[in-house]
Amino acid sequence: MAAPRVLGAFLLIVMLLHTVLAKPSEDKGGKGSHGQAFEFIQHLKGCHKGQTVQGLHELKLYLEKFGYLNYGASNNHSFAHAHANDDEFDDLLESAIKTYQLNYHLKVTGSLDSQTVKEMMMPRCGVPDITNGTTSMRSGKKKHHHGPNSLHTVSHYSFFPRRQRWPASKTHLTYRFHSSVQVSSIDSLRSVCSQAFARWAQVTHFTFQEVQGSNTADMVIGFHRGDHGDGAPFDGPSGTVAHAAAPTDGRFHYDADESWSTNPSQGVMDLESVAVHEIGHLLGLGHSSVTGAIMYPTIPSGVTKRQLHGDDIQGIRTLYAQFHVFAKVLPELVIIISVLPHGYAQYHIKGLPNQPLPHNPYNTAFLKRLALPPLPLLLGWRSFQAG
Ligand SMILES: [Zn+2]
Ligand SMILES: [Zn+2]
Repeated sequence: MAAPRVLGAFLLIVMLLHTVLAKPSEDKGGKGSHGQAFEFIQHLKGCHKGQTVQGLHELKLYLEKFGYLNYGASNNHSFAHAHANDDEFDDLLESAIKTYQLNYHLKVTGSLDSQTVKEMMMPRCGVPDITNGTTSMRSGKKKHHHGPNSLHTVSHYSFFPRRQRWPASKTHLTYRFHSSVQVSSIDSLRSVCSQAFARWAQVTHFTFQEVQGSNTADMVIGFHRGDHGDGAPFDGPSGTVAHAAAPTDGRFHYDADESWSTNPSQGVMDLESVAVHEIGHLLGLGHSSVTGAIMYPTIPSGVTKRQLHGDDIQGIRTLYAQFHVFAKVLPELVIIISVLPHGYAQYHIKGLPNQPLPHNPYNTAFLKRLALPPLPLLLGWRSFQAG
Protein backbone atom coordinates (compact mmCIF):
# COMPACT_ATOMS: atom_id res chain seq x y z
CA MET A 1 0.00 0.00 0.00
CA ALA A 2 1.34 3.36 -0.94
CA ALA A 3 -1.01 5.05 1.50
CA PRO A 4 -4.44 4.46 3.01
CA ARG A 5 -5.87 6.47 0.09
CA VAL A 6 -4.61 3.85 -2.36
CA LEU A 7 -5.84 1.04 -0.16
CA GLY A 8 -9.11 2.93 0.14
CA ALA A 9 -9.59 3.08 -3.61
CA PHE A 10 -8.63 -0.56 -3.87
CA LEU A 11 -11.06 -1.63 -1.14
CA LEU A 12 -13.79 0.47 -2.71
CA ILE A 13 -13.37 -1.41 -5.99
CA VAL A 14 -13.42 -4.72 -4.12
CA MET A 15 -16.56 -3.67 -2.25
CA LEU A 16 -18.29 -2.48 -5.42
CA LEU A 17 -17.46 -5.74 -7.17
CA HIS A 18 -18.75 -7.58 -4.15
CA THR A 19 -22.00 -5.60 -4.09
CA VAL A 20 -22.59 -6.04 -7.80
CA LEU A 21 -21.78 -9.72 -7.88
CA ALA A 22 -22.97 -11.00 -4.53
CA LYS A 23 -25.93 -13.33 -4.52
CA PRO A 24 -28.83 -12.01 -2.41
CA SER A 25 -28.69 -14.98 -0.05
CA GLU A 26 -24.96 -14.70 0.47
CA ASP A 27 -23.74 -14.29 4.02
CA LYS A 28 -21.02 -11.68 3.89
CA GLY A 29 -19.80 -12.75 7.32
CA GLY A 30 -16.44 -11.31 8.26
CA LYS A 31 -16.49 -11.62 12.03
CA GLY A 32 -17.02 -15.37 12.41
CA SER A 33 -18.90 -17.05 15.19
CA HIS A 34 -16.67 -15.73 17.98
CA GLY A 35 -16.52 -12.13 16.82
CA GLN A 36 -12.86 -12.54 15.83
CA ALA A 37 -12.09 -11.03 12.45
CA PHE A 38 -10.07 -13.96 11.07
CA GLU A 39 -12.11 -16.73 12.74
CA PHE A 40 -13.63 -17.78 9.39
CA ILE A 41 -10.24 -19.13 8.23
CA GLN A 42 -10.39 -21.84 10.91
CA HIS A 43 -13.36 -23.42 9.14
CA LEU A 44 -11.45 -23.63 5.86
CA LYS A 45 -8.66 -25.83 7.18
CA GLY A 46 -7.81 -28.64 4.76
CA CYS A 47 -9.29 -26.94 1.68
CA HIS A 48 -7.42 -27.37 -1.59
CA LYS A 49 -7.74 -26.67 -5.30
CA GLY A 50 -10.83 -27.99 -7.03
CA GLN A 51 -13.09 -27.77 -3.99
CA THR A 52 -16.06 -25.48 -3.47
CA VAL A 53 -16.40 -24.64 0.20
CA GLN A 54 -18.67 -22.08 1.79
CA GLY A 55 -16.57 -19.19 3.11
CA LEU A 56 -13.76 -19.36 0.52
CA HIS A 57 -14.91 -16.01 -0.91
CA GLU A 58 -14.00 -14.46 2.45
CA LEU A 59 -10.51 -15.88 2.13
CA LYS A 60 -10.31 -14.34 -1.35
CA LEU A 61 -11.17 -10.96 0.18
CA TYR A 62 -8.53 -11.52 2.87
CA LEU A 63 -5.85 -12.32 0.27
CA GLU A 64 -6.93 -9.36 -1.87
CA LYS A 65 -6.70 -7.06 1.14
CA PHE A 66 -3.11 -8.09 1.88
CA GLY A 67 -2.02 -7.96 -1.77
CA TYR A 68 -1.91 -11.63 -2.74
CA LEU A 69 -4.89 -11.84 -5.05
CA ASN A 70 -6.24 -9.52 -7.69
CA TYR A 71 -8.98 -10.94 -9.85
CA GLY A 72 -9.44 -7.47 -11.31
CA ALA A 73 -5.97 -7.67 -12.87
CA SER A 74 -6.86 -10.84 -14.76
CA ASN A 75 -6.97 -10.42 -18.55
CA ASN A 76 -9.95 -12.71 -18.65
CA HIS A 77 -12.67 -10.42 -17.33
CA SER A 78 -15.47 -12.96 -17.46
CA PHE A 79 -13.30 -15.29 -15.42
CA ALA A 80 -12.59 -12.53 -12.92
CA HIS A 81 -16.26 -11.64 -12.59
CA ALA A 82 -17.22 -15.23 -12.11
CA HIS A 83 -14.63 -16.07 -9.49
CA ALA A 84 -13.83 -13.01 -7.40
CA ASN A 85 -16.72 -13.64 -5.03
CA ASP A 86 -17.50 -17.32 -5.34
CA ASP A 87 -16.48 -20.14 -3.03
CA GLU A 88 -14.45 -22.01 -5.63
CA PHE A 89 -10.84 -22.93 -4.88
CA ASP A 90 -9.41 -21.99 -8.29
CA ASP A 91 -5.90 -21.65 -9.77
CA LEU A 92 -5.54 -17.99 -8.78
CA LEU A 93 -6.38 -18.77 -5.18
CA GLU A 94 -3.89 -21.62 -5.09
CA SER A 95 -1.19 -19.39 -6.55
CA ALA A 96 -1.95 -16.64 -4.00
CA ILE A 97 -1.70 -19.12 -1.12
CA LYS A 98 1.65 -20.35 -2.47
CA THR A 99 3.02 -16.80 -2.50
CA TYR A 100 1.73 -16.29 1.03
CA GLN A 101 3.40 -19.51 2.17
CA LEU A 102 6.70 -18.45 0.60
CA ASN A 103 6.60 -15.09 2.39
CA TYR A 104 5.85 -16.68 5.75
CA HIS A 105 8.41 -19.51 5.47
CA LEU A 106 5.67 -22.12 5.33
CA LYS A 107 5.76 -25.31 3.29
CA VAL A 108 4.57 -24.28 -0.19
CA THR A 109 1.61 -26.59 -0.64
CA GLY A 110 -0.98 -24.24 -2.18
CA SER A 111 -3.58 -25.70 0.17
CA LEU A 112 -4.92 -24.55 3.52
CA ASP A 113 -2.87 -26.80 5.76
CA SER A 114 -2.94 -26.27 9.50
CA GLN A 115 0.28 -24.20 9.65
CA THR A 116 -0.99 -21.85 6.94
CA VAL A 117 -4.35 -21.45 8.69
CA LYS A 118 -2.58 -20.77 12.01
CA GLU A 119 -0.41 -18.03 10.46
CA MET A 120 -3.32 -16.46 8.56
CA MET A 121 -5.38 -16.20 11.76
CA MET A 122 -2.63 -14.38 13.64
CA PRO A 123 -3.31 -10.73 14.56
CA ARG A 124 -1.54 -8.60 11.99
CA CYS A 125 -0.78 -5.19 10.57
CA GLY A 126 -3.30 -3.88 8.06
CA VAL A 127 -0.63 -2.77 5.58
CA PRO A 128 -0.58 -5.23 2.64
CA ASP A 129 2.44 -7.49 2.19
CA ILE A 130 2.38 -6.85 -1.55
CA THR A 131 1.45 -3.43 -2.87
CA ASN A 132 0.33 -2.35 -6.33
CA GLY A 133 1.37 -5.73 -7.67
CA THR A 134 4.96 -5.01 -6.63
CA THR A 135 6.14 -8.08 -4.84
CA SER A 136 7.90 -7.47 -1.61
CA MET A 137 8.95 -9.70 1.25
CA ARG A 138 10.51 -13.03 0.36
CA SER A 139 8.45 -13.84 -2.73
CA GLY A 140 9.85 -10.77 -4.49
CA LYS A 141 13.50 -11.54 -3.80
CA LYS A 142 15.85 -13.32 -6.15
CA LYS A 143 16.58 -16.92 -5.39
CA HIS A 144 19.87 -17.33 -3.57
CA HIS A 145 22.34 -20.13 -4.06
CA HIS A 146 23.17 -22.20 -1.07
CA GLY A 147 26.23 -24.06 -2.39
CA PRO A 148 29.34 -24.38 -0.25
CA ASN A 149 31.21 -21.70 -2.22
CA SER A 150 28.44 -19.16 -2.37
CA LEU A 151 27.16 -16.84 0.30
CA HIS A 152 23.57 -16.46 1.31
CA THR A 153 21.93 -13.05 1.59
CA VAL A 154 19.49 -13.22 4.47
CA SER A 155 18.02 -9.72 4.47
CA HIS A 156 14.33 -9.64 3.60
CA TYR A 157 13.32 -6.09 4.39
CA SER A 158 11.25 -4.27 1.79
CA PHE A 159 10.26 -0.74 0.80
CA PHE A 160 7.05 0.81 -0.48
CA PRO A 161 6.68 1.23 -4.24
CA ARG A 162 8.93 3.98 -5.62
CA ARG A 163 10.94 3.80 -2.38
CA GLN A 164 8.76 6.43 -0.72
CA ARG A 165 10.77 8.15 2.01
CA TRP A 166 11.22 11.45 3.80
CA PRO A 167 13.33 14.00 1.91
CA ALA A 168 17.03 14.03 2.83
CA SER A 169 16.64 17.50 4.32
CA LYS A 170 13.92 16.26 6.67
CA THR A 171 15.78 14.69 9.56
CA HIS A 172 13.69 16.10 12.43
CA LEU A 173 10.17 14.67 12.49
CA THR A 174 7.37 15.80 14.78
CA TYR A 175 4.37 13.78 15.93
CA ARG A 176 1.17 14.41 17.83
CA PHE A 177 -1.78 12.38 19.10
CA HIS A 178 -5.34 12.48 17.85
CA SER A 179 -7.92 9.75 18.49
CA SER A 180 -11.54 9.52 17.35
CA VAL A 181 -12.27 7.02 20.13
CA GLN A 182 -11.46 7.28 23.83
CA VAL A 183 -9.89 4.12 25.23
CA SER A 184 -8.17 3.50 28.54
CA SER A 185 -4.81 2.79 26.86
CA ILE A 186 -4.72 6.37 25.61
CA ASP A 187 -2.91 7.46 28.78
CA SER A 188 -0.01 5.12 28.04
CA LEU A 189 0.42 6.32 24.48
CA ARG A 190 2.82 9.20 25.14
CA SER A 191 5.44 7.16 26.95
CA VAL A 192 4.97 4.13 24.68
CA CYS A 193 5.48 6.11 21.49
CA SER A 194 8.36 8.09 22.96
CA GLN A 195 10.19 4.81 23.66
CA ALA A 196 9.29 3.37 20.26
CA PHE A 197 10.59 6.45 18.42
CA ALA A 198 13.77 6.34 20.52
CA ARG A 199 14.50 2.85 19.19
CA TRP A 200 14.45 4.13 15.60
CA ALA A 201 16.34 7.31 16.52
CA GLN A 202 19.17 5.18 17.89
CA VAL A 203 19.91 3.57 14.53
CA THR A 204 19.06 6.34 12.06
CA HIS A 205 19.78 10.00 11.39
CA PHE A 206 16.23 10.92 12.50
CA THR A 207 15.24 12.82 15.61
CA PHE A 208 11.63 12.78 16.82
CA GLN A 209 9.66 15.22 18.91
CA GLU A 210 6.11 15.27 20.23
CA VAL A 211 4.16 18.47 19.65
CA GLN A 212 1.15 19.41 21.75
CA GLY A 213 -2.40 20.35 20.98
CA SER A 214 -3.45 21.38 17.53
CA ASN A 215 0.04 22.20 16.28
CA THR A 216 0.76 20.67 12.92
CA ALA A 217 2.97 17.61 12.99
CA ASP A 218 4.58 15.33 10.43
CA MET A 219 2.94 12.29 11.98
CA VAL A 220 -0.39 11.78 13.77
CA ILE A 221 -1.02 8.77 16.03
CA GLY A 222 -4.32 7.66 17.56
CA PHE A 223 -7.04 5.12 18.27
CA HIS A 224 -9.87 4.57 15.80
CA ARG A 225 -12.69 2.08 15.36
CA GLY A 226 -14.27 0.40 12.33
CA ASP A 227 -14.65 2.71 9.36
CA HIS A 228 -12.73 5.81 10.44
CA GLY A 229 -12.56 7.75 7.22
CA ASP A 230 -9.26 6.75 5.62
CA GLY A 231 -10.70 4.07 3.34
CA ALA A 232 -9.16 1.25 5.38
CA PRO A 233 -11.78 0.31 7.99
CA PHE A 234 -10.72 -1.72 11.02
CA ASP A 235 -12.33 -5.13 11.53
CA GLY A 236 -13.23 -5.36 15.21
CA PRO A 237 -11.44 -7.59 17.73
CA SER A 238 -8.31 -9.39 16.50
CA GLY A 239 -7.67 -9.41 12.72
CA THR A 240 -5.85 -6.23 11.76
CA VAL A 241 -4.67 -4.40 14.87
CA ALA A 242 -3.11 -1.24 13.41
CA HIS A 243 -1.91 0.37 10.20
CA ALA A 244 0.28 3.22 9.09
CA ALA A 245 0.98 5.03 5.85
CA ALA A 246 4.15 5.36 3.80
CA PRO A 247 6.11 8.65 3.83
CA THR A 248 5.22 11.41 3.87
CA ASP A 249 1.59 10.82 4.86
CA GLY A 250 2.30 10.36 8.57
CA ARG A 251 -0.89 8.61 9.74
CA PHE A 252 -0.59 5.77 12.28
CA HIS A 253 -3.83 4.26 13.60
CA TYR A 254 -4.40 1.71 16.36
CA ASP A 255 -7.59 -0.39 16.18
CA ALA A 256 -9.53 0.69 19.28
CA ASP A 257 -11.45 -2.63 19.30
CA GLU A 258 -8.35 -4.55 20.40
CA SER A 259 -7.36 -4.98 24.03
CA TRP A 260 -4.14 -3.00 24.45
CA SER A 261 -1.60 -2.93 27.23
CA THR A 262 1.99 -2.04 28.08
CA ASN A 263 2.29 -5.44 29.75
CA PRO A 264 0.13 -7.76 27.66
CA SER A 265 -1.24 -11.17 28.59
CA GLN A 266 -2.95 -13.70 26.30
CA GLY A 267 -5.55 -11.97 24.14
CA VAL A 268 -4.02 -8.53 24.72
CA MET A 269 -1.78 -6.67 22.25
CA ASP A 270 1.41 -4.85 23.22
CA LEU A 271 1.18 -1.13 22.49
CA GLU A 272 4.90 -0.56 22.09
CA SER A 273 5.63 -3.60 19.89
CA VAL A 274 3.00 -2.42 17.45
CA ALA A 275 4.25 1.18 17.67
CA VAL A 276 7.80 0.16 16.74
CA HIS A 277 6.40 -1.73 13.73
CA GLU A 278 4.09 1.04 12.51
CA ILE A 279 6.81 3.69 12.88
CA GLY A 280 8.84 1.50 10.52
CA HIS A 281 6.07 2.07 7.94
CA LEU A 282 5.96 5.81 8.69
CA LEU A 283 9.68 5.92 7.87
CA GLY A 284 9.28 3.93 4.63
CA LEU A 285 9.79 0.24 5.42
CA GLY A 286 7.44 -2.42 4.10
CA HIS A 287 7.02 -5.90 5.55
CA SER A 288 9.87 -8.33 6.05
CA SER A 289 9.90 -12.12 5.84
CA VAL A 290 12.40 -12.36 8.68
CA THR A 291 10.37 -13.78 11.56
CA GLY A 292 12.40 -11.95 14.20
CA ALA A 293 12.22 -8.58 12.43
CA ILE A 294 10.01 -5.84 13.80
CA MET A 295 8.65 -5.45 10.26
CA TYR A 296 7.31 -9.04 10.16
CA PRO A 297 3.55 -8.57 9.51
CA THR A 298 2.02 -10.70 12.28
CA ILE A 299 2.38 -10.68 16.06
CA PRO A 300 0.56 -12.96 18.48
CA SER A 301 -1.38 -11.46 21.36
CA GLY A 302 0.40 -11.47 24.70
CA VAL A 303 3.80 -11.09 23.04
CA THR A 304 6.22 -8.19 23.36
CA LYS A 305 8.63 -7.70 20.46
CA ARG A 306 10.14 -4.25 20.79
CA GLN A 307 13.80 -4.63 19.77
CA LEU A 308 14.83 -3.69 16.26
CA HIS A 309 16.33 -6.63 14.39
CA GLY A 310 19.42 -6.39 12.15
CA ASP A 311 17.10 -6.77 9.16
CA ASP A 312 15.10 -3.67 10.20
CA ILE A 313 18.29 -1.64 10.71
CA GLN A 314 19.78 -2.71 7.38
CA GLY A 315 16.50 -1.91 5.68
CA ILE A 316 16.15 1.62 7.01
CA ARG A 317 19.83 2.45 6.40
CA THR A 318 19.66 1.14 2.87
CA LEU A 319 16.54 3.22 2.19
CA TYR A 320 18.16 6.45 3.38
CA ALA A 321 21.71 5.86 2.11
CA GLN A 322 22.97 9.07 0.49
CA PHE A 323 25.57 7.37 -1.62
CA HIS A 324 27.25 4.04 -2.00
CA VAL A 325 30.97 3.43 -2.45
CA PHE A 326 31.93 0.34 -4.37
CA ALA A 327 35.40 -1.14 -3.89
CA LYS A 328 36.24 -4.09 -6.08
CA VAL A 329 39.06 -5.88 -4.30
CA LEU A 330 39.00 -9.11 -6.28
CA PRO A 331 36.72 -10.11 -9.15
CA GLU A 332 34.54 -11.92 -6.65
CA LEU A 333 34.99 -9.56 -3.72
CA VAL A 334 33.12 -6.28 -3.94
CA ILE A 335 32.70 -4.15 -0.83
CA ILE A 336 29.75 -1.76 -0.97
CA ILE A 337 29.60 0.94 1.67
CA SER A 338 26.37 2.90 2.08
CA VAL A 339 26.69 6.25 3.79
CA LEU A 340 23.79 8.02 5.48
CA PRO A 341 23.52 11.54 6.82
CA HIS A 342 25.19 12.22 10.17
CA GLY A 343 27.91 9.62 9.81
CA TYR A 344 25.74 6.52 9.81
CA ALA A 345 26.94 3.84 7.47
CA GLN A 346 26.89 0.18 6.74
CA TYR A 347 29.09 -2.06 4.67
CA HIS A 348 28.00 -4.92 2.51
CA ILE A 349 30.31 -7.49 1.00
CA LYS A 350 28.69 -8.78 -2.17
CA GLY A 351 26.83 -11.94 -1.29
CA LEU A 352 26.97 -11.31 2.45
CA PRO A 353 24.34 -9.65 4.64
CA ASN A 354 24.70 -5.96 5.34
CA GLN A 355 26.64 -5.06 8.47
CA PRO A 356 25.57 -1.85 10.14
CA LEU A 357 28.40 0.36 11.36
CA PRO A 358 27.73 2.17 14.62
CA HIS A 359 26.84 5.84 14.61
CA ASN A 360 30.23 7.47 14.41
CA PRO A 361 30.99 10.79 12.76
CA TYR A 362 34.44 9.49 11.85
CA ASN A 363 32.94 6.74 9.71
CA THR A 364 32.52 9.10 6.81
CA ALA A 365 36.13 10.27 6.96
CA PHE A 366 37.28 6.70 7.29
CA LEU A 367 35.23 5.68 4.31
CA LYS A 368 36.63 8.51 2.20
CA ARG A 369 40.15 7.30 2.94
CA LEU A 370 39.15 3.77 2.14
CA ALA A 371 37.72 4.77 -1.20
CA LEU A 372 40.74 6.81 -2.31
CA PRO A 373 44.00 5.55 -3.86
CA PRO A 374 46.11 3.54 -3.09
CA LEU A 375 43.01 1.49 -3.76
CA PRO A 376 43.38 1.49 -7.56
CA LEU A 377 40.68 -1.14 -7.65
CA LEU A 378 38.05 1.40 -6.78
CA LEU A 379 35.11 0.84 -9.05
CA GLY A 380 33.16 4.02 -8.52
CA TRP A 381 30.35 5.57 -6.62
CA ARG A 382 26.75 6.35 -7.33
CA SER A 383 24.52 9.03 -5.91
CA PHE A 384 21.14 8.03 -4.55
CA GLN A 385 20.23 11.44 -3.26
CA ALA A 386 16.54 11.78 -2.57
CA GLY A 387 14.43 14.52 -4.02
ZN1 LIG B 1 2.93 -3.51 8.92
ZN1 LIG C 1 -6.77 4.21 9.60
